[in-house]
Amino acid sequence: MPTPVLRIAVPSPLYRSFDYLPPPGCDPTRLKPGMRLRLPFGRSRTVGILLELSQTPQVEHHKLKAALELLDDEPLLPAELMGLLRLVSDYYHHPIGETLATALPVLLRQGSAAAAGHRALWRITAAGKEVDSDILARLAKRQADLLQRLRASRNGLTADQLSGLPRNWVDAMATLVKKGWAEAKQIPALEFGRAEPESAPDLNEAQAQTVERIGHCLGLFSPLLLDGVTGSGKTEVYLRAITAVLAAGRQALVLVPEITLTPQLVGRFKRRFSTPMVVLHSGLNDRERLNAWLLARSGEAAIVIGTRSAVFTPMQSPGIIIVDEEHDSSFKQQSGLRYSARDLAVVRARRLDIPVILGSATPSLESLLNVAQGRYQHLTLPQRAGSAKPPHIDLMDVRHQPMEDQLSAPLLRLMQQHLDQDNQVLLFLNLRGFSPTLICHECGWVAHCRRCDTHMTLHLKKRQLRCHHCGSQRPVTQQCPDCGSPDLRPLGSGTERIETALAQHLPGIGVSRIDRDSTQRKGSLEALLEEINRGGKRILIGTQMLAKGHHFPDVTLVGVLDGDQGLFGVDFRASERMAQLIIQVAGRAGRADKPGHVVIQTHHPDNPMLQLLCREGYHAYAQAAMDERHLTALPPYSHMALLRAEAAQSLQPENFLHQAEQLAQQLGSAGVELYGPMPAVMERRAGKYRYQLLLQAERRADLHRLLTPWTPQLNGLPEARKVRWSLDVDPVDLI
Ligand code: ADP
Ligand code: ZN
Ligand code: ZN
Repeated sequence: MPTPVLRIAVPSPLYRSFDYLPPPGCDPTRLKPGMRLRLPFGRSRTVGILLELSQTPQVEHHKLKAALELLDDEPLLPAELMGLLRLVSDYYHHPIGETLATALPVLLRQGSAAAAGHRALWRITAAGKEVDSDILARLAKRQADLLQRLRASRNGLTADQLSGLPRNWVDAMATLVKKGWAEAKQIPALEFGRAEPESAPDLNEAQAQTVERIGHCLGLFSPLLLDGVTGSGKTEVYLRAITAVLAAGRQALVLVPEITLTPQLVGRFKRRFSTPMVVLHSGLNDRERLNAWLLARSGEAAIVIGTRSAVFTPMQSPGIIIVDEEHDSSFKQQSGLRYSARDLAVVRARRLDIPVILGSATPSLESLLNVAQGRYQHLTLPQRAGSAKPPHIDLMDVRHQPMEDQLSAPLLRLMQQHLDQDNQVLLFLNLRGFSPTLICHECGWVAHCRRCDTHMTLHLKKRQLRCHHCGSQRPVTQQCPDCGSPDLRPLGSGTERIETALAQHLPGIGVSRIDRDSTQRKGSLEALLEEINRGGKRILIGTQMLAKGHHFPDVTLVGVLDGDQGLFGVDFRASERMAQLIIQVAGRAGRADKPGHVVIQTHHPDNPMLQLLCREGYHAYAQAAMDERHLTALPPYSHMALLRAEAAQSLQPENFLHQAEQLAQQLGSAGVELYGPMPAVMERRAGKYRYQLLLQAERRADLHRLLTPWTPQLNGLPEARKVRWSLDVDPVDLI
């Protein structure tokens, strides 16, 4: 048999695979799709993944180069995941090599061995158990403490568990090991739950029914929308579903938005399950990420919890996928391979024949349409678990009201009432910093970002102007650069300004601000949340960081400071997002004996959408929004792709998109409308001019029939070299 040709995916922007000969001396029968090879590529080297073996090379045989080295003994990616990623590459029209690379931990992409690291577990030895109290009394205190702790632990202790001890426990441990009283064992770097998991609460009726229905779906592809108001016990339902999956000897994959992957959530899983699990969060280093990935692949980790990219985690025997807060836009990757982890969770579950639960109190219109069309089962939890009541939501008309710093007089009065009753108040404003604009009162000069078409945000405490779009910052000017006047005034309010204003309006009451600025240091968010729940601070002001995951039982009043924010958004999804945020924030408040009250400050109290949301709730709002999308043929009633291009000169992206548009017409774009080229809403960002071409089709198939031949040819267009372009299939952000 002639030597086969290796068809290999190489990380490169080219829409093709590359052919190589097997590495010298390598038995071709060892080669299997999903293995990595080190390759010569251009003038350098790279790591590629074998797609298949072929007898017919894409180039003449004598031009083929040999691969340098086979890096794996077994396929790195199981066939299931290879299949999924090929689909992903086709669907998002993204080069196969880059698609596969996106799914791999960095170290594997670079060619590191696929070997899991270990960590030490210290245990007591038989001799250690027998150390009598006399000897113990004469030991150095640190050694004695350590010995006692080792004796008390059933399974031994890891460095994590010992980290609460004084710093030099390591020396003390070394002494114990030398004396033969303790021993170290290398174990996989897994997170362990409690040895004795806490018992689960009794389910209420709606939960019990839901869990039963999920039970019937195990081992079958079943997309389930778990539509339950905040606090209705969705997490409890996930925990039960996972219990059933684990009992069947299979693994669970849980995807959550970045912001909700907090120690609290992980803690809840660890308290319930003694099973080993891995948590894939952004704080992991490359080695830890690789370990977690390998432990999921080997099946040693029974539960995998992670953000967006965890959807690509290989698993030995996956039994269920759960996507919590499925409406959250952080499930969509906004650079490179622009995938939706929520959508891919469903695709992967279908290929695996397992259930997938999409949970939310405010489901996306996409998922609600899937329910309406019978593609997803609808599981509902209409009431809060336990006896907590849903909050009451009111619009607060702020027209003609005295209003300073976004705080209207009636809102301040209401706050005072709630504070007088020893309760807490939460204020929501999705804008951090002191003020979004700094203006000269003499001449009208405004502090602009030099690299973007936008204002700089004033951060008063840091005495800085910062651009929230490109990250530029500079010190606050004391005088207007145009007219020299010192009369520079902040216009509009961010969370920092509200925090300052509250100290004047309601002196003596502790205020806690929660936004990206106040929570930069690791652990600071947890510390703030803890202080709030202890009652140390009685007013909370925060951005959307406050909207998710947390529960504040003593908060009885929630104030949405700018309810008009979603009304004038340029994106057609702006109002849907605002509605979701309002309901999510509202859900943070209240408990059985202290029902919550939510007020939304607005200049448009007659707005029908706002009224619907407040009077009849999210689902009534969603139905109306859906009807509107239907009438205007917007997603989910149509399908979009956005071709973006940017360059340092404004003409280039526009020209490139014109050429792309002409190419589409040549290829035939039946069933697809093309809009543009048009400038992006923020035309210049980080020094680049940005343009876009929007493609829209009523039928998904029409859109993809065009994208399939079109996208690979875009790099060949004359202007392509002068721009950076990207294609976004099913964009969630049109700006
Ligand atoms: P969600 O995920 O829908 O916001 P959670 O699962 O976090 O809801 O539940 C909200 C609160 O109610 C939690 O404190 C949880 O412990 C409690 N809870 C959930 N289910 C029950 C139940 N069946 N009985 C008593 N308390 C419950
Ligand atoms: Zn001026
Ligand atoms: Zn900028």
